[in-house]
Amino acid sequence: MKILPPVLVPWRTVIDRRHDPPEAQGRYGYRTYRACLRWEFGFTCPFCLCHEADFVPRGAEGFGVTQIEHFVPVSHKGTNLYPNCFYICRFCNRARSAAANVDPEDGRRLLSPTSSVWAEHFVVAGDEIEAREGSDDAAYTRDAYDLNDHRKAARRRYRREAIDECLAMVRESGSICRRLLEDAVATHKPELVDAAKAIEAGLRRAWRDLEVFEVVPPDAPSRCACDVEAPSIPRLLEEQSIEIRAPAFEGGDGAPA
Ligand SMILES: [Zn+2]
Ligand SMILES: [Zn+2]
Repeated sequence: MKILPPVLVPWRTVIDRRHDPPEAQGRYGYRTYRACLRWEFGFTCPFCLCHEADFVPRGAEGFGVTQIEHFVPVSHKGTNLYPNCFYICRFCNRARSAAANVDPEDGRRLLSPTSSVWAEHFVVAGDEIEAREGSDDAAYTRDAYDLNDHRKAARRRYRREAIDECLAMVRESGSICRRLLEDAVATHKPELVDAAKAIEAGLRRAWRDLEVFEVVPPDAPSRCACDVEAPSIPRLLEEQSIEIRAPAFEGGDGAPA
């Protein structure tokens, strides 16, 4: 199973537009892009870097936490064409609201993650995403999308702590359990078995908590509008994801109950 990293490092390349769905018809036709967009953006808001799983565990579809944004708003001559449509969390979408692509007062521009390299403009500082010094466009973008809205920062913190703690638990407690059980047999001390059982219960819980952060959520569509078979997540997300293997539970075949 592949899970998200505790902290997503801002993208080191632009997000590739690999999908090419049929052109949307009608005012709301862009909604047919949704499956393509979810895969293409890796189920992640490209602005605040929160993943669907940060908002709703085990499948966010139907909860309204992600939306399709017209990067150039339709009201500003933007179109429903696919390249103008981004997958974005509702918090970023709402924060931006009607902010212009170019600030009419000082000419600063909103950055697009499909044409600007995020890592060149943003840096993660703790649980916040900061504009790099000298990038006025990044500062404008950060403020327009309110990237450090306390709810987003809280979700980044929760993920970082949960994944760090659960990974440590999963990596270390399997061998601790085994040693305790061996000692219990060798020394005829049943209380050691109880201790091993308690640790294993914690281990199962840690594994379930990690499953929440699967990179490809369980409700990922198996097909999209361009009818690519087995669509994939962006390589820049794949590279940061972490492969984990279920620990061997004493009471089962490895899969937690
Ligand atoms: Zn597609
Ligand atoms: Zn967002």
